[in-house]
Amino acid sequence: FAPWEDPEAKPLIQFRNVTKRFGEFTAIDDLTLDIYEREFFALLGPSGCGKTTMMRMLAGFEAPTEGQILLDGQNIAPVPPNLRPVNMMFQSYALFPHLSIWDNIAFGLKRDKLPKDKIAARVEEMLRLTRLEKFARRKPHQISGGQRQRVALARSLAKAPKLLLLDEPLGALDRKLREDTQFELMDIQEKTGTTFVIVTHDQEEAMTVASRIAVMNHGKIVQVDTPARIYEAPANAYVADFIGDVNLIEGTATRTGEDRCSVRFAEAADPITAECTADLSDGIAVTYAIRPEKILVTADRPADRANALEGQIIDIGYLGNISTYHVELPGGQMIKAAMTNSTRLDRRDFTWDDRVWLSWRETAGVVLTE
Ligand code: ATP
Repeated sequence: FAPWEDPEAKPLIQFRNVTKRFGEFTAIDDLTLDIYEREFFALLGPSGCGKTTMMRMLAGFEAPTEGQILLDGQNIAPVPPNLRPVNMMFQSYALFPHLSIWDNIAFGLKRDKLPKDKIAARVEEMLRLTRLEKFARRKPHQISGGQRQRVALARSLAKAPKLLLLDEPLGALDRKLREDTQFELMDIQEKTGTTFVIVTHDQEEAMTVASRIAVMNHGKIVQVDTPARIYEAPANAYVADFIGDVNLIEGTATRTGEDRCSVRFAEAADPITAECTADLSDGIAVTYAIRPEKILVTADRPADRANALEGQIIDIGYLGNISTYHVELPGGQMIKAAMTNSTRLDRRDFTWDDRVWLSWRETAGVVLTE
């Protein structure tokens, strides 16, 4: 039972109608959001949508202009940053170059004047957690970028915050190391049980690490959901387009059953069928969203698929694991399909200009009204 589905669960963090203005400019616009204990929560959105402002308000570097932020049910407005059970890890890591890894991790604990044995025990625990025992005596310039990232993480977890804010934590790492580090982050988050809130530009990263993602635009949250729901059931065309690859096709919908409708694309002869749960008036303009990998490309019309449209291959992209096919419908509508190449050798290879059938299940696409 996920906490956000449990009516009894108490959120760790609550944004209640929070607005943040900088002069005339509204950076966060009447935003309400709950984040639960032990969540790995991702804020995702284009540059300037207000992600960093959300983090800075949680850390206490900015105050809301209107509304409240509650932590464990208490308004945190009066609590200064250093007294909040919140820590922030920056992309630059901000390690002290003249201090050893050990002393970098111990820094906050020493400043809090904890007893020496307590500090030592905690630093050792953090070194073990982040697999840095061997590097304790080195200085930051004597370790790799990935190791520096782990030191920064160890240091920001040393005081056992309830909430850790991660601002583009893996931005400085190359792709391969970044992927490995994502799994390490998830592992450490689970072991410590700390609530993580991460800001990232990288949608795949958010999909990989997060329990839930908030997709933001212009200071508002457009959708909060699990990665799978964000991908499979986007609330609108903005979310569908922001995450992953998608065909967005304009059409008109007509209800054909309690939760079904038919959608006619402007340029296609035959309508397709889809699940429609929203209240739709007949003939309403909709956007039909379908992911390329849900579409099968075949030479003949498949008998067992609800939706099939004929078209012509305009372009094929070979990406190794998958191939992508740009297919033009008779009226000019372009549709992108993608198929894995795992069984490629058993399958007929297509070439440009081939006439093909695109087909997919009724549940594969989503009908969007905004
Ligand atoms: P990025 O991904 O580029 O970091 P972001 O989503 O984190 O973007 P924010 O840094 O939260 O965006 O900024 C949101 C908006 O508020 C931006 O338009 C920014 O210019 C504006 N803003 C942020 N801080 C201030 C400030 N101190 N004074 C004036 N405007 C600000």
